[in-house]
Amino acid sequence: MTPPSASQAHSLPEQAGFIQPPDLSDTETFSLSTHTVIFMSRIICIANQKGGVGKTTTAVNLSASLAAAEKSVLLIDCDPQGNATSGLGIPKEKLQRHLYHLLIGQADPAEVTVSTRLPHLHLIPSQSDLIGVEVELISAPSRETFLKTKISTIASSYDYILIDCPPSLGLLTINALTAANSVLIPIQCEYYALEGLSNLLRTIKTVKQRYNSFLTIEGILMTMFDARNNLSHQILQEVDSHFPKDRLQTIIPRNVRLSESPSHGLPVLLYDINSTGARSYLMLAREIMGNGTHHAQK
Ligand code: ATP
Ligand code: MG
Repeated sequence: MTPPSASQAHSLPEQAGFIQPPDLSDTETFSLSTHTVIFMSRIICIANQKGGVGKTTTAVNLSASLAAAEKSVLLIDCDPQGNATSGLGIPKEKLQRHLYHLLIGQADPAEVTVSTRLPHLHLIPSQSDLIGVEVELISAPSRETFLKTKISTIASSYDYILIDCPPSLGLLTINALTAANSVLIPIQCEYYALEGLSNLLRTIKTVKQRYNSFLTIEGILMTMFDARNNLSHQILQEVDSHFPKDRLQTIIPRNVRLSESPSHGLPVLLYDINSTGARSYLMLAREIMGNGTHHAQK
């Protein structure tokens, strides 16, 4: 039986702003022998502790591309820099409530979720206060599972939940990995591209062993690829020789439209739908949607 579309579970508002709590009352359930299964979203965390490799660009544009395919999507900005928030045109400085308040228990998910210009895309925004969470939660019991617990009540309302991680392997990234079904690792086609990757893989392994045994690797995504540059090809070969099964087929090219669109507060497909950047993220969305069955079997 086909799981219900989460987009049917609640109507999405037309304009950017705070949304109504999702109505889960008509979320369908379907039976598998004696068990009743509630349809859950796929939760994908986008992580690499290396800075500037394209995590946020991927989080924003993959979310937007999935939403353009009429999937119901929630993007969680789990980085105190708040780049995914501003990249979607939400003014950080005006936010009354954001991820910080959700994590420390001062707000519930509906109070921190905002709509965006894309009708199927919601955002849990962030700004610099989120830095405080690392300090405030450090001595809390179950500090690694806060995000997972807080989003558990809304997970069934979305087809996809994407989490944009900060450039560190601290508590926020651990929370994101613990909440996720899979991790997508962007790698920039530049010198030292693979530096630090073993630390990330070790962290993923630890999270899998201790907090989230179902965590899988969604794939390695090559970003800022420049076909005219030998180095880009060398990095691609290197990734293929080290991780022959893990690289995603879609390669994101270096594209000026991708770097311009955040300053307009727009995902690239609303900024320039004909750009190679927009087309590659639409292809990535198609690849990720196709990976669903493969992941269910992993
Ligand atoms: P941080 O670690 O600071 O969070 P990040 O990994 O999220 O960084 P981004 O912010 O997505 O990286 O990208 C870093 C910079 O590179 C940004 O200025 C972004 O606009 C630019 N950029 C990302 N991807 C591309 C691309 N494919 N083509 C051109 N510019 C890109
Ligand atoms: Mg970022």
